[in-house]
Amino acid sequence: MNDENDGYFYHPLDNIEDAEVFETAIDRRVFNRKLSPDRPYTYWTLELYDQENGIRGGGGLGVLAADTRRVAEQVKVPFVLITPFYPSQTHQRWQDGEIIDDHISVDYHNYGFEKVGDVSVKCCGNDCKLEVIEKSFENTRIVAITEPNFGELYSGLSGSDHRLYQEVSLGFGGYQALKLLGLKPAIMQLNEVATFFAALVRLDELTSNGMDFYEAVVYTRKHTLYTNHTLVQAAEAEFSLQQFENFVFPNLKSRAVKKWLADKFADNKIKLSSVTIEIAELRSGVSKLHARVANYHDIAGERVKFKAITNGIDLRKWILPEIIKFYHEEEILDEFDLPTANFAGNLKALSSDLILGFKEIGRRILNEELSKRPDQNGKILKFEERELIFDFKRRFVDYKRPQLPFKDPMRLKEILMKYNAHYIIAGRVHTGDSRMAKILTEILEVVNADDFLREHVHYIADYDEKLAYALSVGSNVAINVPIVGLEACGTSWEKDVGNLNLLISTHDGGVADGSTSDYLSVRGMGEDEEALELYRRMEEAGEAWRNGEKLSSLIQKQLSGFLPVISGARMLKDYLDYLLPE
Ligand SMILES: *Cc1c(COP(=O)(O)O)cnc(C)c1O
Repeated sequence: MNDENDGYFYHPLDNIEDAEVFETAIDRRVFNRKLSPDRPYTYWTLELYDQENGIRGGGGLGVLAADTRRVAEQVKVPFVLITPFYPSQTHQRWQDGEIIDDHISVDYHNYGFEKVGDVSVKCCGNDCKLEVIEKSFENTRIVAITEPNFGELYSGLSGSDHRLYQEVSLGFGGYQALKLLGLKPAIMQLNEVATFFAALVRLDELTSNGMDFYEAVVYTRKHTLYTNHTLVQAAEAEFSLQQFENFVFPNLKSRAVKKWLADKFADNKIKLSSVTIEIAELRSGVSKLHARVANYHDIAGERVKFKAITNGIDLRKWILPEIIKFYHEEEILDEFDLPTANFAGNLKALSSDLILGFKEIGRRILNEELSKRPDQNGKILKFEERELIFDFKRRFVDYKRPQLPFKDPMRLKEILMKYNAHYIIAGRVHTGDSRMAKILTEILEVVNADDFLREHVHYIADYDEKLAYALSVGSNVAINVPIVGLEACGTSWEKDVGNLNLLISTHDGGVADGSTSDYLSVRGMGEDEEALELYRRMEEAGEAWRNGEKLSSLIQKQLSGFLPVISGARMLKDYLDYLLPE
């Protein structure tokens, strides 16, 4: 293959001699890989949850994307995140006993994005123009495509034309955007199958520039990582051949690629996972358990293996700065926020006095955030420094079981009375999820019907990053009880562990990377038993917050089990080890 036909993108590892080797200023041994500012790690995602940069996501998938870029920035990995900028967002409020969605428009100019140029994609016979906007940081960039009618994140059904339009725009438009900026991806990480089209364009580019089709497939596969967050392939939406004829095929240049893609349809239907698996040789799941149980098959019917790379969080974003400082001073975390070799021993320095002191600082932050967000009865909450707070903060979806703690409301009441504690619920109900909206309404009816519960159980609407942060730093006990086997990883519990809250959880998702003795685990056959166990664990947590020795020993145990898991730097290092082995 000569230079003229190797296409715009090429295989960087085939050119090791002339590849610029990017050296991170801080430590070459840890993060020095074959990446450079114009040949970066590229990360493709339909969802980014990064309110500071004007982009509000739906949940964990977007938080993960934002944190991955932040960690890359911090450890100086050249990294470009490609995502849509949605010109409209949904916010929620609680009014007259129900959830109300408000749609708010967002202007990228207010968030430091600059317009770089325009690109276009073909859809339904038209050229659809997309603006390319960019925000640069020291080592990383966010490149976004947008247009006034782009719509909201997850608007419409997942197999709808509008979704396909958004996905095609990100793939085809985002690829052209990188070209406009003179960037050549060294690797492409696909954050879920909705970003499949980015890898498809690469294949198309290589092939239409004269590379043999099969060679181009090998090239593309070798540097594409498909990160799966979903457990069951069967649940995935399908697109029809007609939809691809309207939105996808007109954007492809190579006849071989068109034919390859057309052959993947069965009964005129296609699931993006089936083709993503074919185009990405590297595949990861987001926790050990998830990578083991994700049930995916390739077109030949073979079970797909996923490499387990557990989601971590950007510790500096999510953890109280005073606690981060302590982790560094005691050499629990190193300068990259990786746990040190002696971190477990060094955790002995974490006394209950220190824990209580950190929690007082966190409590002030929580009170400040809650001063702007009334509870379901319009009441502004303000908590004492040492009042005990349990929280349940996560998307209000079925499998996370927000209703489990209300299995026996009188038992819950008894516990809250015994420890003079409060219970805070925060979580967005997915637009259109009338079942969960009803469950929330029912929970709050039970709460409001009881004089004590009304004063001690609070629902705070419009769950977002700020509320997630405020609760992580300011509450004491986090409740995470997904149905075992259904949480891919979850990251909100990681924010709690880092911020020295006690974790009550089922053994699922990333929590199952650890052992059940690392945290207050909820086990049982069926919901009744699990609820009983949950109440017992709540009492145990209540006792611990009254007993310094018990508290520091439980918190130390949690951190020794989970600090390596929750470290976002550990996650990025795992990705780099997998993508670009030394
Ligand atoms: C951390 C976070 C999440 C992730 O929640 P999980 O339920 O643990 O996946 C979702 N939404 C927001 C706003 C967050 O801050």
